Amino acid sequence: MKNSKYVFLSFSIVLILSCNSNQNKRTEQGIVEREDNDLQPENIQKHTDWSYTGETGPEHWAELEENSVCSGNFQSPVNIVKYKTDTSLKPIDFYYAKETILHDVVNNGHTIQYDFEAGDYLVFKNQNFHLKQFHFHEPAEHTIDGVRFPLAIHLVHQNNNGNFLVIEILVKEGKASKTFDFLESFLPIAKGETKLVNEAFDMNLNLPQNKAYYTYVGSLTTPPCTEGVRWIIFKESISISLEQVELLKYLMPINNYREEQPHHGRAILQTAF
Ligand SMILES: [Zn+2]
Repeated sequence: MKNSKYVFLSFSIVLILSCNSNQNKRTEQGIVEREDNDLQPENIQKHTDWSYTGETGPEHWAELEENSVCSGNFQSPVNIVKYKTDTSLKPIDFYYAKETILHDVVNNGHTIQYDFEAGDYLVFKNQNFHLKQFHFHEPAEHTIDGVRFPLAIHLVHQNNNGNFLVIEILVKEGKASKTFDFLESFLPIAKGETKLVNEAFDMNLNLPQNKAYYTYVGSLTTPPCTEGVRWIIFKESISISLEQVELLKYLMPINNYREEQPHHGRAILQTAF
């Protein structure tokens, strides 16, 4: 075990050195070593073995991850049901620029994730939340009145205090999406691989037209299942083609979603608009 770790480390060092010593080669291949970034929720537990199935599947996350709160009382996802209308909920103000730089795409073994350079943010209840990354679950994690969509996009935001706000955009099969054509032009991508994108991208193009939403407070849906996460789930879904769903499905673990968690008395609210 120690030996194999040593071999892996040595290989990583050689890879880093070769990347650093040959900038052009790195650019041509579009492959870079990924930097550690503890603020990326899908990567917080990147050195552990959790998965979506069997002995390392969701029902074992709490035992697997010593410091996780995966068995907490305020977990996500949930079935969006018995929701109340809250007239005080306002439309979210999006400040997603037309040309934010999409830095890279990574296959971290749990999902396909696109990382942004700083810039885009939204305002919810007078607080700014900065867009960090988005990634996919197939099928969707939150269900609406028991209905599960074939795919979901999670847009992960954080404020300056480190609090998370995640938007779930539900995706149905239908018309092909030009936006997904662009995103998927960087695929396929092998497990553990990161590709540099470094191109402008308009995240507004992935938002539904109607911005009515459900909201509640839950958790990250992957270990360490951090609680206190503000969830926004748009009522309107977007469409992509079956082929576009299939490409993502092929590259991600089968059924990379967590089952619904108990409400434990939490209020689920919907906008009045
Ligand atoms: Zn997610």
